[in-house]
Amino acid sequence: MIPVSLSTLVMLGMALGIALLGVLWLIAVWRERRDEKRTRADLVSCRICGGIYENTDKKISACPSCGSLNESSRPRPI
Ligand SMILES: [Zn+2]
Repeated sequence: MIPVSLSTLVMLGMALGIALLGVLWLIAVWRERRDEKRTRADLVSCRICGGIYENTDKKISACPSCGSLNESSRPRPI
């Protein structure tokens, strides 16, 4: 058995706890980004007026505000 002092054991426990928190945080960030990506998948940003509207399946759609035609592309993050 490896001889370990109490302070080393406490430090090891704290390091493992911090590592666990880091992993949980990374998982939470990954899930949030995934959900945001799904939400933005159907949104189209108008190139003329800048309005953002929902487009279900068409590749080219008309903006409900100004009527200009827009190609489906994911809007940039705010
Ligand atoms: Zn528009």
